[in-house]
Amino acid sequence: MTATRAAGVPVVESGELVSTNPATGEEVGRFPVADADDVAAAVARAQVAADWWVALGHAGRRARLLRWRGLLAQRVEEAAALVSREGGKPVAEAIVETASAIDHIDWAARNARRVLGPRRVRGRLALAEFSAHLEYVPMGVVGVIGPWNYPVVTPVGSVAYALAAGNTVVLKPSEYTPAVGQWLVDTFAEIVPEQPVLQVVHGLGEVGAALCHSGVDKIAFTGSTATGRKVMAACAETLTPVLIEAGGKDALIVDDDADVAAAAEACVWGALTNAGQTCLAIERVYAVAPVYDAFVAEVVRRAGKLEVGYGDGYDIGPITMPKQIDVIRRHIDDALSRGGRAVLGGRDAVEPPFVKPTILVDVPEDSAAVREETFGPTLVVTKVADVDEAIRLANDTAYGLGGAVFGKRRAVAAARRLRTGMASVNSVITFIGMSSLPFGGVGHSGFGRTHGDDGLREFSRSKAITTRR
Ligand code: NAD
Repeated sequence: MTATRAAGVPVVESGELVSTNPATGEEVGRFPVADADDVAAAVARAQVAADWWVALGHAGRRARLLRWRGLLAQRVEEAAALVSREGGKPVAEAIVETASAIDHIDWAARNARRVLGPRRVRGRLALAEFSAHLEYVPMGVVGVIGPWNYPVVTPVGSVAYALAAGNTVVLKPSEYTPAVGQWLVDTFAEIVPEQPVLQVVHGLGEVGAALCHSGVDKIAFTGSTATGRKVMAACAETLTPVLIEAGGKDALIVDDDADVAAAAEACVWGALTNAGQTCLAIERVYAVAPVYDAFVAEVVRRAGKLEVGYGDGYDIGPITMPKQIDVIRRHIDDALSRGGRAVLGGRDAVEPPFVKPTILVDVPEDSAAVREETFGPTLVVTKVADVDEAIRLANDTAYGLGGAVFGKRRAVAAARRLRTGMASVNSVITFIGMSSLPFGGVGHSGFGRTHGDDGLREFSRSKAITTRR
C-alpha cells in the first residue's frame, strides 16, 4: 500500500500502522506492524499462557470473563466514541454494537461449563463392561482475524467463545480499525494481567496471512469472501481448522398479508444501518405485486428523511473504506444503465466519503447490484408474482448469510425455505442480538458457527472417553 494519507486509508509509516477517521482524516491510532517473527512469538507466548488459562477451569475463566464484561459495561461510551472516530459510524450505533459484544461475553462465560463439560453418554455399548463419556477440550491457540465494519462485536463474537472454551487468542484486527482492537485487548489485560491470554498483532493482510501459517490450532476469520478463500488455502497447507464468516447479499421477502409499514421500517434499518456496511444488510427486497407500490413508497418516505454526515445528529455516516465507493458507484451505474430506476438517490447520491440512501427498482436480476455484495446504503426492490417466485430469486445467489420474511400465513414456512444460515420473520437481523443462537452462513457466506452452544463447540474438540469398569 502506498504511503498516501487520504482520509480513512490505513498506511504503514516507519513500521507503524496509522489509522485515520474516514470523514475528517484525523489520525486516530499508530501501532507497530508485526512481522512473521512477531506473530510466531505471540503464538508461542499464547501456547504457554494456554496451560495457565486451562488450569483455571470453567469457574476461574468464567469469573475473569465476567469481570471483563463488567469493565466493558462501565466503559461503553469510551468504546463507542473510539469506534465512531476510527470507522465513522454514528455513536448510537457503536453503543448498540458494544452492548451486544458485552452480552456475548456474558453468555459465553455463563454457558461454557453447561455446553462443554464432561457428560455420560447413554446408549447401548457393544461391551457392557465399558462406560462412555464425551467431553469438549480446548483447541489451544485461536487466531482471530477481524473486519472493520463491526470492530467490537465481530471479533468479540469469536474471542469470547474461544476464551470461554479454554483457548488463548491472538487477534489480528482490521487495518482500518486497529485502535479498537488494541483497546479490546488492553481492557482484557487489565482484568487478566498474569498471562498473555488475549494478544493483538497489527498490520495489513500479510499479518493475517502470517497468523494462518503460525501454527495456531484454529483460525476464526471474518471478512470478505475473497479473503476467506485465501485464508482457507493457507490453512489447507497445515490442515488448520477454519471458521469462515464472509460476505452476504441478504434478501427480504414481503408477502401480500404483511404489515407493509412495519416491513418498510425494518427494511430501512436493515438496509441502511452502518451505511449498509453490514454483512447482514438487506440488499434485495422481493415484494409481491399487491403490496409492492405501497412498500416502495413507504421505504422511500422513511429513507428520504435520514441525515447523512459524520458526527452528532446524523443517521448515516461515511463509507469507511474509500475504495468501496467505487464498488457502490459501479453497482448504481450498472443498474441504471440497464433499465433500472432510482426512486431515491442515484448517481448524484455518491458524494465521497458519503453516499446518500439509494433505492433502485426495475433492476435486472443479473446486474451487479443484485448479484454482488454492494456494502453501501443502497437497496434493490423487485416486484414478484408470489412467495414462490420471491424464494426462488432470494435463493438465486452464491451467498447465504441471513434473510427475512414479512407476512402472516406463509411467513414461517418461507423463512424455512430460505437457503441461509439464519432467517427472521416479521423483523430483520434479529438473530444477531441473541447470544444464545448460532450465527453463520452457507455457500459463499462461509461455514462454521459463532455464538450460542455451537459457537462454544466451534472452539473445542470433542473427545470420547471410554472407561472399563
Ligand atoms: P477483508 O476480507 O478485506 O479483511 C478482513 C481481514 O482479513 C482484515 O483483518 C485483513 O487485514 C485480513 N486479511 C486480508 N488479506 C488476508 C490474507 N491473505 N490472509 C489473512 N488475512 C487477511 O474484509 P473487510 O473489508 O475487513 O470486511 C468486510 C467484509 O466482511 C464484507 O464482505 C462483510 O460482509 C464481511 N463480514 C462478514 C461478517 C459475518 O459474520 N459473516 C461480519 C462482518 C463482516
